[in-house]
Amino acid sequence: MKDPFASSIDKSNKGPFKLLVHICCGPCSVYPLKALLAGRAEVSGFFHNPNIHPYSEFKKRLEAAKTLARHLGIDVVFDERYMPRGFIKGVKAKAADLAKSRSEGPANPAAEERFPSKSLRCAYCYSSRLEATARAALEGGFDAFTSTLLYSTSQGHDEIKALGVDLARKYGILFYYEDFRKGWQQGLDETRAIGLYRQRYCGCIYSRIERGPVKKKS
Ligand code: SF4
Repeated sequence: MKDPFASSIDKSNKGPFKLLVHICCGPCSVYPLKALLAGRAEVSGFFHNPNIHPYSEFKKRLEAAKTLARHLGIDVVFDERYMPRGFIKGVKAKAADLAKSRSEGPANPAAEERFPSKSLRCAYCYSSRLEATARAALEGGFDAFTSTLLYSTSQGHDEIKALGVDLARKYGILFYYEDFRKGWQQGLDETRAIGLYRQRYCGCIYSRIERGPVKKKS
């Protein structure tokens, strides 16, 4: 039997559908939102990125997303709660859980807890942001949810897709999948044209440390 959650919205159905789009940041959202607005989805946005470090950076990304929402004329719910500690706690708990598992646990559990690897922390980060979006979509009466994380060429694209489908099954709401990476250059060009703030690192404190010194733009 066909699993309705194992793929994106059925392309044979031509009717409109209500779609809630998780917005990770302004620049990553330009291409996906414009592409979706040109299709049959009734698009609304959901900004939810509580782990951006530091707070001044969170505010810059929030303002860039607001500028883009105004530019495109779409409704966006801005979750302005800032909870980096909750993220760090969640990642550490995941590392501790994995350490208990002899077969899957990391080679050096103490180091993993001190400075979690990208694979561990990103899996937690994707999952928490997608889950918040799935819940918001369900509560808001949407038909489906998706994320602009699917635009980034530096994120775990297949992992995000698989998590989206798992959450669709869990919440009984469709996950809209599209490979937005095809519009990478177009998104960059339009970001520059709009004059949106562009970040220099992924977002969390770990990615900020790994990025090293960031020169101020002149
Ligand atoms: S590197 Fe980016 S995707 Fe990974 S945990 Fe940090 S903010 Fe999330």
